Amino acid sequence: MNVGIVGGGQLARMLALAGLPLKLRFTFLDPAPDACAASLGTHLVGAFDDVAMLQRLAEASDVVTYEFENVPEAAIAYLAGHTAVHPAASALAIARDRWREKSLFRELGLPTAEFMAVDSLQHLQRAVSEIGLPAVLKTRTLGYDGKGQMLLRQPSDVETAWRRLGGVPLILESYVRFEREVSIIAVRGRDGDLRFYPLAENEHVDGILRLSRCRPEDAVQARAERYARAVLEELDYVGVLTLELFQAGDALLVNEMAPRIHNSGHWTIEGAAVSQFEHHLRAILGLPLGDTRALAHTAMVNFLGAVPPAARVLAVPGARLHDYGKRPQPGRKLGHATVLAADEGRLAASLTQLMPLA
Ligand code: AMP
Repeated sequence: MNVGIVGGGQLARMLALAGLPLKLRFTFLDPAPDACAASLGTHLVGAFDDVAMLQRLAEASDVVTYEFENVPEAAIAYLAGHTAVHPAASALAIARDRWREKSLFRELGLPTAEFMAVDSLQHLQRAVSEIGLPAVLKTRTLGYDGKGQMLLRQPSDVETAWRRLGGVPLILESYVRFEREVSIIAVRGRDGDLRFYPLAENEHVDGILRLSRCRPEDAVQARAERYARAVLEELDYVGVLTLELFQAGDALLVNEMAPRIHNSGHWTIEGAAVSQFEHHLRAILGLPLGDTRALAHTAMVNFLGAVPPAARVLAVPGARLHDYGKRPQPGRKLGHATVLAADEGRLAASLTQLMPLA
């Protein structure tokens, strides 16, 4: 079978690494000539809205998927007119717009921060008076890794934030004083079969994920699964979907969904019987789903800007290294390490050695 992927970055690369043992062949569409997935399949070098390239991708693929949600809607619509596309364009359209996704959560009865759409300075002032401060102003589309958002602490921040972000559709959200951020990764097959991985507990620095710890049997697992099930079934979703959540006291609030494999699920490559990448492929190809249990105590550390020498990472007990082979650039995600351990004590000891390298 031939799988087409819109995007040729590390997520596409890890999808291909998971799919090669299943005899899958991959075609990637990515404008970067040095896209890091390229060596694992056929690389179409072109823009995401280049119709001739989209046509070639569709012709080469039994099914097309994507590695990020900011794909132009017209591109997905074109592909869907020519081949099977999973997850569906409708899920992508919701996930790329923070207001639409939060509205979906609200319709499904899932708790979120308070939020209002903002299209003018007047709207923003009204939203601030209803929601109160502190609050977070975000662009509705094209935001990721904390980009396209600003924290408003005091009334004088309102105009500054409007000057910086205004002019595009925005959303204002109440600021959540969360104790921790967690994510749940779920997979739904073409036949509606549903599986959930154990929660990941995530730590961000400057809006970018640094550390994810797998938390099997977490107290909020069942609630997170219920939320994810509601979203997946409402969208008749096929593939892997990730929900990012805030835990604040007794409240578990949904922040956003990613209609794809997710950085907080990289631990599943070594830490689960079937990884999120293989599961995404199984789902979109209509193959049976497998085991999502954690096989060990597991965590994942991202390497940003530089990948430490392999010898230093691999000297840490239980560590596995993934170097994506990308051109180094400050703050860029270049690789990660997974740590597996027999118990929490050994995991903590390994993380103490690994974190200074990151
Ligand atoms: P997002 O792009 O929505 O995933 O936001 C990036 C990060 O900003 C999140 O992982 C949180 O750490 C923080 N953040 C986003 N929205 C809020 C909020 N409403 N209240 C508090 N922190 C937030």
